[in-house]
Amino acid sequence: MLPFEGATCSVCGEAIPHSYAFADDAGELRCTLCRRMGPPFARAAAYGSYDGGLRELIHLLKYDRVKPAANVLGRMLAEVIVELEPSIEQKNVVVVPVPLHARKLKQRGFNQAELIARAALKLVPGSTQMEFAPLLMERVRETASQIGLTSRQRRENLRGACVVRQPEKIARQEVLLVDDVMTTGTTASECARILKRAGAAEVWVATVARTMKVQRTFALQGKLAIEGPLALAAAKG
Ligand SMILES: [Zn+2]
Repeated sequence: MLPFEGATCSVCGEAIPHSYAFADDAGELRCTLCRRMGPPFARAAAYGSYDGGLRELIHLLKYDRVKPAANVLGRMLAEVIVELEPSIEQKNVVVVPVPLHARKLKQRGFNQAELIARAALKLVPGSTQMEFAPLLMERVRETASQIGLTSRQRRENLRGACVVRQPEKIARQEVLLVDDVMTTGTTASECARILKRAGAAEVWVATVARTMKVQRTFALQGKLAIEGPLALAAAKG
């Protein structure tokens, strides 16, 4: 599987069509939304598009509960973390997986974001010290599906769903928020918002995959789909 190609927003990671790909005053490439109103996190980065083989691999872990898939996904996440690392200013970063509600956790048996983060952290060489804090945030309210909601409805749906349990760990610290997939960015934004309100100095977001609102053919040129079966074999073996 290959990571993204083509222009992406330096803040949220969304693909930018060539015709819109011009840098702002600071020389950074930003999508229209981030130029208008920045998200509460400094930057979100992903390994690839939530599509083809990568999507299958994530489903293998989440729905078929093939746990070794987390190691393959962890390797990809490690690459994302290495890419984000130079932007992180502090020597220590607190790594927080996006939490699952207790009922979902019981049903699935594990939090996929936590497994992937654990696997990735073993592989990050680390000039930065990564403190893993899987219990820092808790999802206290179950939320309805985000599908079909407007962005305002999605934000309202998630408001108050997560709480920070150990604010002392993140006071004036930079936080790396980790998840398997970033879809609309609402979950990442809401988590970043409450982490910052609880005292975090900055929030970075690393996910294995993300959904592109912009046509994926532009970003990927079909490479993920071609390499899908290989990745699945690797996960199973
Ligand atoms: Zn953006």
